[in-house]
Amino acid sequence: MHITRRKAAAAAPFAAVAVSAAEPAPRRALRIAHLTDIHVQPELDAARGLESCFGHVQSLAERGEGRADLIVTGGDTVMDCMETDLARTNLQWDLWRKSVADHCSLEVRSVLGNHDVWGWTRAKAGTTGEEPLYGKRLACERFGRPLPYESFDRGGWHIVLLDSTFPHEQSYIGRLDDAQWDWLEKDLAAVPAATPVVIFSHIPILSMHPLAATAPQAQGRPDFRVSAQLLHTDNRRFQSLFSRHRNVKACVSGHLHVVESIDYCGVRYLCNGAVSAGWWKGMHGQTDFGYALVDLFSDGTVQSRYVTYGWQARG
Ligand SMILES: [Zn+2]
Repeated sequence: MHITRRKAAAAAPFAAVAVSAAEPAPRRALRIAHLTDIHVQPELDAARGLESCFGHVQSLAERGEGRADLIVTGGDTVMDCMETDLARTNLQWDLWRKSVADHCSLEVRSVLGNHDVWGWTRAKAGTTGEEPLYGKRLACERFGRPLPYESFDRGGWHIVLLDSTFPHEQSYIGRLDDAQWDWLEKDLAAVPAATPVVIFSHIPILSMHPLAATAPQAQGRPDFRVSAQLLHTDNRRFQSLFSRHRNVKACVSGHLHVVESIDYCGVRYLCNGAVSAGWWKGMHGQTDFGYALVDLFSDGTVQSRYVTYGWQARG
């Protein structure tokens, strides 16, 4: 059919509206299964529990769900090696390695947790600090990478894995060290402003839980305070950083074994329960054995859902 110029011009505004209305809905760019606080150990059949969790993640498609593209483990991979000797430490890490090798076909990226740091509590671990794999070097070797933090791009998103555990009096507090702060500031500066960013840390950068769970004897007192082990003590510096990088959309953590979601100053803070619930003994408060499906969308939005995988505590 011949269209006159006049008719074409008259149709143009309508065509423009039609194109706008047909703009595609945000699509899911990446689905991450976030398995945090696994705490694998020889006791309580924990390795079977972890394998059951891997099985659940890998059968999402059979359940009519979208498959996960990637597993991010959120730290506290092993029950504890901060206070244990090398034999017990290796026993736990070997369980982790075997479970992944034999029961997980998805790509796994890992955050370090405080319980993954070997031997800082020297009096209990029997360490001197001179051992070749002392501290975070052991977990880095097990994860096959040089540093306890890293970043990578996937599905149009920039993904940062931070190391929250900072040494303090043979134990730890939550914060980045200076070298990591320098690295993070440069890392985010190199990300295009249109690329959304999600940050994973073991210890939450922000959380309500340390306030809500303060010990009863501290309630109503002027010296009410929050433990420096329960959230990042450098969180003001994060707020300042995020105000300069508005493309940081979400911060995802573990450590507290609770399920929590906060929207604060344009950033979503998610704490995603625990694969081990109450260290494999049963529920941790209201938290059942589970993991989170974190969906990252092309428009920079984030959705997260906690999924139980049917594990029951074994005596
Ligand atoms: Zn922890």
